[in-house]
Amino acid sequence: MINLYGVSLPHLEEMMVNEGQNKYRARQLYSWIYEKGETDFEKMTDISKKFIEVLKEKYCLVKPTIYQKQVSEDGTIKLLVEFADHAKVETVLMRYNYGLAACVSSEVGCNMGCKFCASGLLKKQRNLAPEEMVGEILLLNDLLKEEGKRVTHVVVMGTGEPFDNYDNVIEFIKIINEQRGLAIGARHITVSTCGIPDKIREYARLGIQVNLAISLHASNDELRNQLMPINKAYPLKELIAAVKEYNVVASRRVTFEYILLKGVNDSLKDAEELARLIRPVFAYVNLIPYNEVDENGFHRSENSKKFMDYLMKHGVNATIRKEFGSDIDAACGQLRAKNEGRL
Ligand code: SAH
Repeated sequence: MINLYGVSLPHLEEMMVNEGQNKYRARQLYSWIYEKGETDFEKMTDISKKFIEVLKEKYCLVKPTIYQKQVSEDGTIKLLVEFADHAKVETVLMRYNYGLAACVSSEVGCNMGCKFCASGLLKKQRNLAPEEMVGEILLLNDLLKEEGKRVTHVVVMGTGEPFDNYDNVIEFIKIINEQRGLAIGARHITVSTCGIPDKIREYARLGIQVNLAISLHASNDELRNQLMPINKAYPLKELIAAVKEYNVVASRRVTFEYILLKGVNDSLKDAEELARLIRPVFAYVNLIPYNEVDENGFHRSENSKKFMDYLMKHGVNATIRKEFGSDIDAACGQLRAKNEGRL
């Protein structure tokens, strides 16, 4: 069975032609699936009875389910989403004044092993398929329906390394970006990576105006090797070279994410080194207040304002990330890790 939630419009057109149908059938299906929210092929009244039988036999429209739901005082929703094989991931809805942003997971667990991160406590079990990532958004949209709202922004910043599941993430982006699909504007979609140069180059050539965020967290190899093992495979020089190429090929700025960890990377000397590293790149820095994970010994820095001011004074644009849902298990990966008895 092919789950149609995981098929982009161009791919569906191909499939319909292979079924001996008019290419237009794909648009009709998209309109039933996304505009009308129909999940039952039988109710798609402008499709012939005969073809409905084919659809029922070979295709399906299956969403994941909500295993657990937490709602914060600020309206942030955190879901533990369960798939058919009982694998679970976290999905979060954040309410900004400019829109509603879904933070989507791309893998079950993660193999990147960043020392400060709770997600890495559970090793990668498998990639998520495009329909599973689309499913994360559909579940949020179902919850938002009663408010007359829908997800308007997507950040692929949940559990997993999206560039370690590249093809599925790109198909997912095409589905949600499709005007007849979930119609989420490319500029409202951001993928966050720990920094895999080859994939950054490929992403630059995608031809869709989606955003790229890079988890930096340290501005020298010695510290970054300690915090993020991926840096041993792709040191800063290679990462920065790929980002500069991205700037030129995609004509787009990147965001560097930098968690401020007390006594680790938050001194003014660190800010100076960071400014020197970033100035030649078309980028800005998003400083992230650390969500403490009980067992790893890192603490939230109190220096964020000074650190930001230093960067701004030295030619680097910087912001401090707004926080959501601090009264629920907000720290990345915590809900699932708790659920599986790891926190
Ligand atoms: N693997 C991708 C995307 C998932 S992590 C990446 O590395 O970018 C998304 C972001 O959350 C990354 O910047 C990551 O470093 C950050 N993060 C992880 N654990 C965190 C924590 N406990 N507090 C704050 N940010 C965290």
